[in-house]
Parts: sequence; structure tokens; C-alpha cells
Amino acid sequence: MSSIDSSNVLKQTQIVIEEALGKLGYGEDMIELLKEPMRLLTVRIPVRMDDGKTRVFLGYRAQHNDAVGPTKGGVRFHPDVNEQEVKALSIWMSLKCGIADLPYGGGKGGIVCDPRKMSFRELERLSRGYVRAISQIVGPTKDIPAPDVMTNSQIMAWMMDEYSRIREFDSPGFITGKPIVLGGSQGRETATARGVAIMIHEAMKKKGIPLHEARVVIQGFGNAGSYLAKFMYEAGAKVIAISDVHGALYNESGLNIEDLLERRDSFGMVTNLFRETITNEELLKLDCDVLVPAAIENQITALNANDIRARIIVEAANGPTTLEATRMVTDRGILLVPDVLASGGGVIVSYFEWVQNNQGYYWSEAEVDAKLREMMVRGFNQVYELHQARNVDMRLAAYMVGVRKMAEAVRLRGWV
Ligand code: GLU
Repeated sequence: MSSIDSSNVLKQTQIVIEEALGKLGYGEDMIELLKEPMRLLTVRIPVRMDDGKTRVFLGYRAQHNDAVGPTKGGVRFHPDVNEQEVKALSIWMSLKCGIADLPYGGGKGGIVCDPRKMSFRELERLSRGYVRAISQIVGPTKDIPAPDVMTNSQIMAWMMDEYSRIREFDSPGFITGKPIVLGGSQGRETATARGVAIMIHEAMKKKGIPLHEARVVIQGFGNAGSYLAKFMYEAGAKVIAISDVHGALYNESGLNIEDLLERRDSFGMVTNLFRETITNEELLKLDCDVLVPAAIENQITALNANDIRARIIVEAANGPTTLEATRMVTDRGILLVPDVLASGGGVIVSYFEWVQNNQGYYWSEAEVDAKLREMMVRGFNQVYELHQARNVDMRLAAYMVGVRKMAEAVRLRGWV
């Protein structure tokens, strides 16, 4: 395991998929099918920029497997988007949907771009161009996109509008994460953080730590990290450190999260306002009860895994801990709640949004939150019980729970 390149998320995902399917009793043919997406579309999107020139953007849509139902997953706008990453992310979406028992397979899309350097109108043209380019393979019963890194409800609104124009009927169920007035769901914006907070509570119960005594460290102050900090603060836990790309803030007796949220700039940055900061690397090594990596991939690696002093790690980001580091922290008795379980709240409420769109009947925020809690807790218990019963780490247990329904559906359809 230690010989693999830790930056290669696809390879790491494939290793665990193979192990999970093997433990579930499936053979080579099933592994061969499920270790890669069934479809990857690459598109080149011409966009008229504000200066009158045309720029061509590279985009992808990966669909892992649709044996269970349509594929589902976000679209990210980021300069580092690449084929391998989109493929891995589509497999992770299958696992998230499988753990929550949603009637979906996984999908993921991405465009190589830097939205921070584009105007509002350029972003609109790019979003619409992407939908035109992928329209043949997506749709409310085929593949349903959603927000991801650096995409938001406005982008979902443009994409939904473009798709509706192409199909010549209003199609709110084509995409989730929409603004409320266009068929979005109550609670979607905060869903990932709500789900992570629920996972923290469940993990703390297993470790016997009361919430008001918990010292929580959160890496990342984006959608997941900032709402999570707020929820933890409101619940009476001590958030002793947070960070953004500039650095981290640390206060042993607890940070004033409300104040920090108010002082964020339009890009969500806050640590640049302070002189006394620590680095993101130092933050990971703080003595705490719960460490939540809520930023980017490959943060906890073989290089720092032995320095982690948390009792629980809950992965709000996708892929923050390498496989080798997973083994190292697990061996030291740290309870790790893996990404495909911990960050499932987003797609769960996306599913609720799609159901509401299909029914034309909308739920209250309390209803959404109660159903989200029920699904997240059920997923946690299934993974935790399998982890104990089969003596496998939490990540492998999550992959086993996540892939078993899909493999069964593949077999029943006679594909393998
Ligand atoms: N992009 C989110 C994720 O990675 C949400 C996907 C969705 O809502 O379909 O889970």
C-alpha cells in the first residue's frame, strides 16, 4: 500500500473498491466494471469573453454506473480539474449514494477554469455552454448535476434554464442546489455541514465525549467548514481553531465563531485580518477531540499522521486522508469517519430536492433536517457495525456498505 503515489486519488479509490468488492465476495469481472466510470465525456466549450475574444474551456462529465438509477453528482469549476480526479469523484459519489441508500449511481463534472478571474456574464456563458455540450447524456432521469467546489445556486439556475430551453419544457429536476424560488430545497445550502455535525455527534457518543466538553479543530472555512463551525459553536462545543488558504487561527479557550463569520470578505477569507496565526500544517497537529479536514485532498499523509493528536477525525472534504495515513491513525486508535460517509449530507438533501421537484410538493426545513438526520445516522450505524463485525477500518467498511447495493443491482441486471 505504501508504494502508491499518494496524490493519485483514482488509484487509491480503485484499491479500496477492489478490496471492498473482494470482501463482499465479488470477483474480477465486477471489479473490472466498477473500478472505472462507465462513461466519461470530454467537451471543449467555446466562450465569448467580455473582451470580444473566444476562449475554449475543457470540461468533463463522468458517470460511474447507473445500475441502481440515474447518476448524480456535482460540477466543479477549478483550475486543477482533470480526468483522473473527475473519475475518482464520480466513484465517491456512488459510494455516498450507496451509504445513504439513495436510488442513484455516482456522477461528477468539472470545468478547467478559475471562476475568481471571470466576470459574472462570462461565468453565465460558460455554464450554459457546458450544459449544451453535455445535454445528450444528462437529464432528470439520466444524470443530475449539482454544485461542487466553486459552483453555486446561481450557476445551477443558469444551467437549469439552459437545459429547459433545449428540451422546451421547464425541467427543475434536471439539477439540484438551485435557488429556492426555482425549485431549490430548504436546507440544501447548509446540508453538508449539518450532516458532518450529525456524524461528529455520533462519533463522540462512541468515544464517550460530551459535546459541551469537545474541542474541535476545523481546516477550511468554505461552505462546509464555516457552517460547521457555526453549528458546533451554537451547540456549545469549543471551536479552538479554524483556517482558510492564508493560514489558521487558534485559541485554546475557543474562538468567537459568530464574530469571524461576520468579518469574512467576499471570498470567505478571514485569517488574513489577524497577525497571530499558525499554519495549516500546525493546525492539523493541535491537541483536540475532533479534527475536521474540510478543505482539500491529501492533507493527512504518512508524513504527519503520527503527529495527529485528535481522538476523532471526521472528513468533511473529499479525500483529505491518504490510505497509508488512514491505516496509521486507525492503528493509533483514532476513530476516522470517512468522507464518503461524513460528507453525504449534500447529496442527501439534493435527493430531497429532486423528489420535491418530481412531486411538485415542497417540504419545510424541519422536515428536511429530520429526514437528513435519519439517513445520516442509519449510514453511520451500518458502517460502524460492519467496521466492528468484520474488523476492517472505517474507510473500507464505508466502501463495502457504499458499493454493495450497486454490485447487487449490476448482478441482477445480468451485466456481470
Ligand atoms: N458536490 C456534492 C458532493 O460532492 C453534492 C453532490 C450532489 O448534491 O449531487 O457530495
